[in-house]
Amino acid sequence: MIRRNLKRALDAALIDVGGTLWPNSWPFRETDALGRRERIAAAMPAMEPEAVEALADDLISSSRPGDEARSISTEMEIVVKAEVLIANSLARQGLPADPQTVMRLRRAMSIPISDRMKPLPGAQELLAEIHALGMRTAIASNTYWRDAESYWDDFRLLGLAGDIDAIFTSVDAGHLKPHPAVFEMALRWAGCTPDRCVVIGNREENDIAPALVIAPDLWACAKALRAMLDSD
Ligand SMILES: [Mg+2]
Repeated sequence: MIRRNLKRALDAALIDVGGTLWPNSWPFRETDALGRRERIAAAMPAMEPEAVEALADDLISSSRPGDEARSISTEMEIVVKAEVLIANSLARQGLPADPQTVMRLRRAMSIPISDRMKPLPGAQELLAEIHALGMRTAIASNTYWRDAESYWDDFRLLGLAGDIDAIFTSVDAGHLKPHPAVFEMALRWAGCTPDRCVVIGNREENDIAPALVIAPDLWACAKALRAMLDSD
């Protein structure tokens, strides 16, 4: 056992979210806009209610094309970054776009995961298996509004937070996968070289291109991981 641990070939799994751990798309609901208005008001406590209302109208209407595209797929092409969209909206309202305000509004615009949303079959088992194999798990995900803090709330709600050790998003990294920034953040956290990590994801360009194994589902993925370590 000790010898196996010393010889262990993989230290960490870097795991995608949309289309991998949970569904790739979900419908946008009317209540989502209401929730955003409430969170925007909470994020701007010093503002007059009418000004908050005007800002919320602008933010919600200018992000509608993205919302509609994301109800089809979380893997849409992002044209305008969330920070830029928010800064433009603040400018139209004659408000300063300091980084703290932009961050608070970005989190306010992030729609919490629905209580109807379920992880994909085998997701919890895969995460548990990675831990059982002595590896650590890090989320490596392309997002629009969500940063790591928003994601922790989602994973707590889904009951998966205990199986995840760290979260890295394109919002935190400043670039979308396949740009290496998200993976580089995860590697720095893991403190290991890329050859000691495995990337698990559903999208060929972002996740699969450098992969060794293609698994049809998450159980097969867990099995393939165990086999990789056993053959060491
Ligand atoms: Mg994906």
